[in-house]
Amino acid sequence: MGFLELDGLTKKFRANAVVDNVSLSVEKGQLVCLLGPSGCGKTTTLRLIAGFLEPDGGEIRVGGRRISAPGDSLAPERRNMSMIFQSYALWPHMTVMENVTYGLKLRGLTKAQQQERADTILAVTKLAELAQRYPGELSGGQQQRVSLARALVVEPETLLLDEPLSNLDANLREEMRFEIRRLHDKYRYTTVYVTHDQAEAMTTADLIVVMNQGVIEQAGTPEDIYQRPRTEFVARFIGGTNIFKGAREGEVVRCAGGLALRCGTGDFAAQGETAVSVRHHDIRITTVGPASDEPNWARGTVARQTYLGSHRDYQVDLRDGTHVHAVSPAEVAIPPGEAVWLQFPPERCRALAS
Ligand code: ATP
Repeated sequence: MGFLELDGLTKKFRANAVVDNVSLSVEKGQLVCLLGPSGCGKTTTLRLIAGFLEPDGGEIRVGGRRISAPGDSLAPERRNMSMIFQSYALWPHMTVMENVTYGLKLRGLTKAQQQERADTILAVTKLAELAQRYPGELSGGQQQRVSLARALVVEPETLLLDEPLSNLDANLREEMRFEIRRLHDKYRYTTVYVTHDQAEAMTTADLIVVMNQGVIEQAGTPEDIYQRPRTEFVARFIGGTNIFKGAREGEVVRCAGGLALRCGTGDFAAQGETAVSVRHHDIRITTVGPASDEPNWARGTVARQTYLGSHRDYQVDLRDGTHVHAVSPAEVAIPPGEAVWLQFPPERCRALAS
């Protein structure tokens, strides 16, 4: 049994289920990322967990105890959870120290206890020297660290983060991802982290839950989700890929234009056409091909080639007009207009169940 459990959780807005029968089990101390495009229901799921919304169906349990069900929900302040918002939500008229100790004061800790806990958390979040500053005197990254410190200092059982890094610039975002993971490794609070940024999810999560239109498409470790996507949606959303569709003959999928892909991995669709995912960097691009037609080879013409320092990005058009996106080592430089061969290694051709 997990520590935090969502069981058939459903939330409707105007008869439209934006969270639709979602079940998920989170172990104690796990960091779970809810990942998906805008509007897929991530924030609504988080708000249901926090208690800001009441479900229309299903329930939420923490440590085996039911905390939320239709018409029967524990108030947010009684859930022992801390939530961090996109907007930091710091008190502007309070110093960093006052912001951090505020929650402790509410919980009735003595001044000495407040000081001790705040000193520890400010040191861990590298804010000790800024303790007497006001939020307006801090950078975005520093403000976000204060909101983290404020959430952690109350020692919540569960930490909820809603796109916590989206207001930061790219460099700071990258730094803060590692910071969040470092703090998680230190405190091991059960954490649910909402993001639409796959790199953020890959860096921070033990478990990634990919959501699409209110349902869970796939849940797994970052490696599972990247290496073994089960659906076209997940393959496209995480990491970029080419999707080819065709009819299955044994292990081979025959696509339009004569391309035949032997698939060394994945699960074939139960019926109808099968989709095959091949990642951009798994395709080999060469000017020399096989003497006769062979599966997992295709002829095409370079439509676009971009030098990106460490590699080159290609668009190759097959004879039937299919665009293939491939990435090659930087030294493979073939100009637009040239005829090329593409090789799709069977062990990198992944059949998708749906
Ligand atoms: P984003 O990344 O853009 O924040 P999200 O995945 O977090 O997206 P939600 O905020 O959970 O998505 O919203 C899911 C759907 O529910 C959206 O279509 C949204 O418009 C709708 N929605 C959210 N809150 C309400 C509300 N209070 N009333 C009506 N519809 C709502």
